[in-house]
Amino acid sequence: MAKRDYYDILQVNRNASETEIKKAYRKLAIKFHPDKNPGDKAAEEKFKELSEAYAVLSDAQKRAHYDQFGHAGMEGMGGFSSGGFSGSPFEDIFGDIFGDIFGGGGTRRGSRGRRGDDLRYNLTISFEEAAFGLETKVQIPRHQPCDSCGGSGARKGTAPRTCGTCQGAGQVRYQQGFFSLTRPCPDCGGQGTVIENPCPECRGSGHIRGKKALSLKIPAGVESGNRLKLHGEGEPGTGGGPPGDLYVVITVKDHPLFQREGNDVICELPISFTQAALGCEFEVPTLDGKMRLKVPAGTQSGKVFKLPGKGIPVLQGYGRGDQLVVVRVETPTRLTPRQRELLEEFAREGGEDVNPLGKGFFDKVKELFD
Ligand SMILES: [Zn+2]
Ligand SMILES: [Zn+2]
Repeated sequence: MAKRDYYDILQVNRNASETEIKKAYRKLAIKFHPDKNPGDKAAEEKFKELSEAYAVLSDAQKRAHYDQFGHAGMEGMGGFSSGGFSGSPFEDIFGDIFGDIFGGGGTRRGSRGRRGDDLRYNLTISFEEAAFGLETKVQIPRHQPCDSCGGSGARKGTAPRTCGTCQGAGQVRYQQGFFSLTRPCPDCGGQGTVIENPCPECRGSGHIRGKKALSLKIPAGVESGNRLKLHGEGEPGTGGGPPGDLYVVITVKDHPLFQREGNDVICELPISFTQAALGCEFEVPTLDGKMRLKVPAGTQSGKVFKLPGKGIPVLQGYGRGDQLVVVRVETPTRLTPRQRELLEEFAREGGEDVNPLGKGFFDKVKELFD
């Protein structure tokens, strides 16, 4: 059978650019790829033809030679004569073009090793530590390289030997139709090495359960549920794979006096009704220590005093929230006979005028129902 012209096969003209050729090949190769046309002999032939044409036209030297001498010129160029497609040029093109399209496709070069697991570590901190941040040392339980074998997994004095099946490559090549594909080596599990005398300490795994001391820097302003990611501090990978990540999950303990709302700190201030009526000065707690707060005469229960900038620092930002002091007026519950007498006199003296809010309220009730 006479060979078809490579430019015709790729449906490009003779002065097509490298990009045009690549684009044309990509489009056609996807259409005729054996993965998309299982068992279709014609598509397989077509795909083979395309690959051959592309291998020549994508190589400037081979293309020039082909332009000058045609198919006859390709003999002895080390390109593709009439044989199969085993050999590295094919794999390179394939990997390059199909690696991203077919994802787990057969010839994708397998990566050795497995990434380690991610770890979670729960860290409980105080309200103040959450507000201002802290540096702390923690012991993270996780696997460590085995001291006895230095992480190799082989008994002391021995070493893992290179796998004979894959010659250490970790993968083996096999033939499917005319495709040369690879898969992880069955004898070494893709490791490339075989351990004949496993280390008794770690049973050949190369790592043992242990604890890793880590210094954690918790930023100011964190809240319960915040997660800190420590890249690469999770479980070690196996077979040369990268380690996982460590997630530190924050829990903030309740504070006896403070509550948090966003970046504001809420604090209740219980005062007596006489203090509320007469006015008083108090020392109120803040995150920065005690602070004097003047409660003016006639302050109502529920009144909020704002202490600007005394709240929680903005996480990874600037400034701080406020502290909000909420006044709670306490009604006395146990009166001495003398106190009762005084209060009764107080009520008689002031009449309804000592109770302006209440007066307004009951006036409205009267309007509504009478
Ligand atoms: Zn192997
Ligand atoms: Zn060991």
